[in-house]
Amino acid sequence: MHEVPCSSAVGIDDPPEGGAVPFFTQATSFADLWPTVRAHCDEVIDRGKYSHGGKVAEFETALAAWTGARHVIGVNSGTDALVLLLRACGLEPGDEVIVPAFSFIATATSVSLAHGRPVFADIEPDSYAIDPRRAQQAITARTRAIMPVHLFCQMADMAALDGLAREHGLTLVEDSAEAIGMRWNGTHAGLLGAGGVLSFFPTKTLGAIGDAGAILTDDPHVAETAMALRHHGRGGRTLDHFPGISNLTVIPGTNSKMDDFQAAVLLAKLAHLEHAIQRRADLAAAYTERLADVPGVRRLPTAVARPVPTDPVFYVYLVEVADRDALTRYLDDHGVGTEIYYPTPLHLQPCFADLGYGPGDFPNAEAACEVSVALPLHPDLTIGQVDRVCALISRFYSEGRRA
Ligand SMILES: *Cc1c(COP(=O)(O)O)cnc(C)c1O
Repeated sequence: MHEVPCSSAVGIDDPPEGGAVPFFTQATSFADLWPTVRAHCDEVIDRGKYSHGGKVAEFETALAAWTGARHVIGVNSGTDALVLLLRACGLEPGDEVIVPAFSFIATATSVSLAHGRPVFADIEPDSYAIDPRRAQQAITARTRAIMPVHLFCQMADMAALDGLAREHGLTLVEDSAEAIGMRWNGTHAGLLGAGGVLSFFPTKTLGAIGDAGAILTDDPHVAETAMALRHHGRGGRTLDHFPGISNLTVIPGTNSKMDDFQAAVLLAKLAHLEHAIQRRADLAAAYTERLADVPGVRRLPTAVARPVPTDPVFYVYLVEVADRDALTRYLDDHGVGTEIYYPTPLHLQPCFADLGYGPGDFPNAEAACEVSVALPLHPDLTIGQVDRVCALISRFYSEGRRA
């Protein structure tokens, strides 16, 4: 694979003041990547084998090398990765899985889809990750697993959660969908317990041009089962080693194979991932510098001290602000895109009404939903655009719009 120069350093490609700032775009960096993407896609087309075509395996090998995972299983979304991982870990109907009350909906619905029961716990207000003490309080005789989520820029407290899982004989699985590049004492997110996932949804740090995801695990049994599950329950590569089994369905599976064209795109982008992560860090630092003293901006992303070195990666730049909804309307009126991650805590989602939770159960999760907003952050963003977003936020609060 040949190297293609990436987009220029922060600051060089600044647009004139006043342009729109979309929440997400990857048009510029894609122009640089296109020759490599095209070469990979041509290989897929020329080979003429449009499923199990080999590009997925090539990407899996490259991603295994990048993350240090013994096994990478490419699937068609981060959500399917979660469902298949939980099933591969042996989740039985009715088993309880403790998850944070603040996350993307798929964290909890994946447990339901794997026939388990999500049990919610509140988050740490600074990391937005599950609070290990609250997780401990949620353990019952039916608890089978704990599934922390590493949100926005940093990992959950994996030392405390690992201790909890060992003490109570629970499986530790990670919703590391947002966590590519994050490492706990050198170990990549997703590899601290039985396994984890990655999402390659287009906005993610490593984004495809459609849906794709992967399971990461060091456990050969989890890998073998997940590989079978993504392909109708048929023998994966490992089961092929057992003559006579490979053509039989050993477990009811689904069709969730990664698409070869997405693998082609991801292979091209993986070569630039380190650079993209650095660019995100530089842009996040620029936001932090400009927003540090803006009245109305109440919390900037802070790396929480953990017992070991962690490698924060900025997937999302999330701030807590006064008068959040008025601010996002103001930014939208001025052409700046924002997103609310997440507007509703999981325990108050209608699909979980029968679990019996109510408002007030998880105050930190509920507060985060009320006051936080994600600002544009992606490698194509320029410092000039960061300047514009921050100037608009300052102006909003200095004009006395703050409630
Ligand atoms: C994106 C995401 C998912 C789901 O990934 P998809 O590829 O969109 O299915 C799951 N959990 C978290 C925390 C995510 O951010």
